[in-house]
Amino acid sequence: MSAERDQFGRSIEYLRISVTDRCNFRCLYCMPADGLPWLPRADILSYEEIADVVGQLAPLGLRRVRLTGGEPTIRPQLEKLIAMLRAIPVVEDIALSTNGVKFDEYAPRFREAGLDRVNISADSLRPDRIAKISRRNFSFDPVRAASAATAAGLAPVKLNVVVMRGINDDEIADFARLTLDHPWHVRFIELMPVGEMRDLTWEHVVPSDEVLARAAEIAPLHASSGPAGNGPAAYHAFAGAAGTIGVITPMSHTYCASCNRVRLTADGRLRTCLFGDHEVGLREPLRAGQPLAPLFREALASKPREHALLQMQVGGLRALSQVGG
Ligand code: SAM
Ligand code: SF4
Repeated sequence: MSAERDQFGRSIEYLRISVTDRCNFRCLYCMPADGLPWLPRADILSYEEIADVVGQLAPLGLRRVRLTGGEPTIRPQLEKLIAMLRAIPVVEDIALSTNGVKFDEYAPRFREAGLDRVNISADSLRPDRIAKISRRNFSFDPVRAASAATAAGLAPVKLNVVVMRGINDDEIADFARLTLDHPWHVRFIELMPVGEMRDLTWEHVVPSDEVLARAAEIAPLHASSGPAGNGPAAYHAFAGAAGTIGVITPMSHTYCASCNRVRLTADGRLRTCLFGDHEVGLREPLRAGQPLAPLFREALASKPREHALLQMQVGGLRALSQVGG
């Protein structure tokens, strides 16, 4: 069955599911140091309810899901949800976005439950800097987390680096070099003006062209098709490298035209654009036993052509942790 299309003819086959708005990190660009007003627990969808939503959207063409948050791995026994989603026959691809804490412990367990692939957020390779950016003191090593993912059979493994001038931009080459020997896809993300970035300003944004130029100082880069699973990144690679280098430029509209995704917030609201405010509440209809297909179609009918990020003020949008970034 082909996927439902929105009013601009885009097939919607990909759902990003926020399983919690909470997190064990307080990344400078995502959350204030003292956290955010968390959702009441009773408002958060249970694993059974999330699986019910996916099961009801699957006949409409949903094929791929990503578990995100907040930090999805802090929700107890996430492998149970992974297994429930794996049991839905038409779901072809189950992915996870995580900050990678304790991932050496989780990777085999999640893989066994049916997880296909993982994106690990890694803004630095230096422990002191990781603590400064995440405002937490976990012993966390992104290379160890990515190695555990590869060893468990998760593929592709992507490392997401939010580049911030004067904070971690001197590590662009170190991250790029990882792709020479490891089958990893390092994706440099431009900092976005969302949430409450009290400690960051526009001056911290490093344009993607500059990132690529700095990576290319190691060796020439050529365009690459990148890993499977079409996303918003443009990929490049060093000759003979095991992995690739991607750049994600959320401020441009380059990927709106092919946007194939919608988002489910932890409290069961369907969002059609990461940077828009339009939402359709699914939790109450779900709990009342109503069918979700008409609500899904209603949401798609209002999916905007493109986001209006460039017109927005820093702090004018909710943090990505609140909407399932
Ligand atoms: N906790 C998980 C993690 O960190 O991967 C999943 C949720 S996190 C909100 C998803 C992604 O959003 C991460 O890769 C993070 O770096 C990115 N992100 C959050 N706020 C951002 C911002 N202001 N600018 C750019 N990327 C951001
Ligand atoms: Fe947590 Fe991810 Fe946001 Fe960092 S980016 S505070 S790890 S949700």
